[in-house]
Amino acid sequence: MRIVVKIGTSTLAHPTGHLNIRRVEELCKVLSDIKNSGVEVIMVSSGAIGMGVGKLGLLSRPSDIPTKQAAAAVGQCELMYTYDKLFSEYNHTVAQLLITGDDVQNETRHQNFSNTLNRLLELGVLPIINENDTVSTQEIVIGDNDTLAAIVAESVKADLLVLLTDIDGLYTADPHTDPDAKLIPVIHGIDDSVLALAGGSNGKQGTGGMVTKLQAAKICLSCGCDMVIANGSNPANLYEILNGKSVGTMFTGGSL
Ligand code: GLU
Repeated sequence: MRIVVKIGTSTLAHPTGHLNIRRVEELCKVLSDIKNSGVEVIMVSSGAIGMGVGKLGLLSRPSDIPTKQAAAAVGQCELMYTYDKLFSEYNHTVAQLLITGDDVQNETRHQNFSNTLNRLLELGVLPIINENDTVSTQEIVIGDNDTLAAIVAESVKADLLVLLTDIDGLYTADPHTDPDAKLIPVIHGIDDSVLALAGGSNGKQGTGGMVTKLQAAKICLSCGCDMVIANGSNPANLYEILNGKSVGTMFTGGSL
């Protein structure tokens, strides 16, 4: 089995932008254990910009591109240092892959990227992917890691993509404002009524929101990959998901 796990900034960092150490330690432990059980794991990790903001002591997430790119350059180091250290404790080797929209759109580069990923998996490595934010300007940007994670899942023919975020899944209404909102456990296919359930981005730290998650689901379902949106506050949820239990919202095998 091959899975892609995407971790959003709000799962990795406190609102201060500094690392949520307990969360990340738990996450690396669970993913190491899952890998030990024979599942091939690929991570797509956000958090470069968020972590850079914390490390540089900026007061808020920057809106201008050069500061965002500078924050990403600082934060990406911090991210990979942390992952390398924590996964090493469980004897796993990590690799960093940073890509842009160009690398996906250009057939040769996309093929090279897939070849590298597949070879890393054969070598038993845990690839960790992020957008190359330091060079991604408007024309070549993928823009959010939900979409990037779905592109990765498609490229390596993953069986499952899990998006770990700061909400339990997709609700019938916005749970922040509507007390009657109910979690939807399973969705078969994405149609307009499903797309209408998404608001914009809620997070102050990351980029995505439900819109990008549903776009990711569309990509996944079109290539036969299931997708789950689950709360990243409890990384052990990943065990439940792999055991077929209902956690969060599962998007599965519908036709588009
Ligand atoms: N690539 C961005 C980062 O690492 C995150 C994009 C996203 O949150 O979707 O900070």
